[in-house]
Amino acid sequence: MSETSGVAQARRASRLAMVGSVGLGGTAPIVVQSMTNTDTEDVFATSMQVAQLARAGSELVRITVNTREAAAAVPKIRERLAQMNVEVPLIGDFHFNGHKLLAEHPACAEALAKLRINPGNVGKGARRDEQFAQLIEIACRFDKPIRIGVNWGSLDQTLLARIMDENAKRSEPKDATEIMREAMVTSALESAARAEELGLAGDNIVLSCKVSGVQDLIAIYRELAERCDYPLHLGLTEAGMGSKGIVASTAALSVLLQEGIGDTIRVSLTPEPNGDRTREVIVAQEILQTMGLRAFTPLVAACPGCGRTTSTVFQELAQDIQNYVRERMPEWRLARVGVENMTLAVMGCVVNGPGESKHASIGISLPGTGEAPVAPVYVDGERVITLRGDSIAAEFRQIVDDYVSRKYPERASH
Ligand code: SF4
Repeated sequence: MSETSGVAQARRASRLAMVGSVGLGGTAPIVVQSMTNTDTEDVFATSMQVAQLARAGSELVRITVNTREAAAAVPKIRERLAQMNVEVPLIGDFHFNGHKLLAEHPACAEALAKLRINPGNVGKGARRDEQFAQLIEIACRFDKPIRIGVNWGSLDQTLLARIMDENAKRSEPKDATEIMREAMVTSALESAARAEELGLAGDNIVLSCKVSGVQDLIAIYRELAERCDYPLHLGLTEAGMGSKGIVASTAALSVLLQEGIGDTIRVSLTPEPNGDRTREVIVAQEILQTMGLRAFTPLVAACPGCGRTTSTVFQELAQDIQNYVRERMPEWRLARVGVENMTLAVMGCVVNGPGESKHASIGISLPGTGEAPVAPVYVDGERVITLRGDSIAAEFRQIVDDYVSRKYPERASH
């Protein structure tokens, strides 16, 4: 994992929680995670989707564990992933019956690298504390970190009532939004304190407080970061579909990441029916990479096009090269050191094309309307060749391949 810069890292959690081989917090890079939407009881479908998410770059994958059959499936999923050479740590998501499932299926606890519990869904009334304690005891026994994941849709109602009572006694009561935020932060911090009292090491605790409003999320995480040093998992819950989900997640996460808040992120996109689940992984990577916090895959800069580009040639080339780089990246990442830092530019005409191309590792300016049908290519700021004719895309891909072979040294183990 490589960091591209030390942007705003001052407030990153000082504690480091190890989730399998992946570190959260401390000086570890910000980690991308995702979650399956398959039925966990379906070992084949879940293993395939975990593998897909991992291959797209998800460094942790969460799966729902909601039934006995799902708990029994977890070790089989782990086994199947091992057969596919997929080692991504799995996180089990537990609600209501988690204490029972884990007690009855120790192999499930063993196969998971982290347990996620929601303090609002651990149990009701007096059984809540007892079941929470059982979950913590299991985490301690198997030496597994826990994410205490508060969600505003399932906020602990007893705690909320207590905070509302306290508020009513104030001379200047807070409004409903402030109370909700306070209740979420309190739920996370009190649950973490209770887990430590029960014997869970502070280094085995990760916190999250997910809401669907951007301003709420920012306010809540600022408060959490002020008040604790546990690693924080960031994510806007129910972000939504398509561009709305991407924009809302990016807006919320970017503000916090820029302030050094957040040690692992998930972008909770609602996929289109039969849509690609890996999109949430790519968006999370792109947020981190465009902010200069990490590098995952070469970025392709492209101009938006304008009246000077009356054909679709340059959009097609930009798309073609972006797809090509994504396709080649799994192999390049294993074989070459630093290839994720390569930058590419595909520009629509000579107005800004050569200038932008010079800033990229490799840049090409396609001919705009009325310009000579030639495409100058710049490599590391120098004009090296001018492409023309019907095979520009293939020749440009070859230039990219040659650059990767020449510029990025082979990994020692390869
Ligand atoms: S580079 Fe050329 S085609 Fe692209 S937006 Fe600028 S002027 Fe338009």
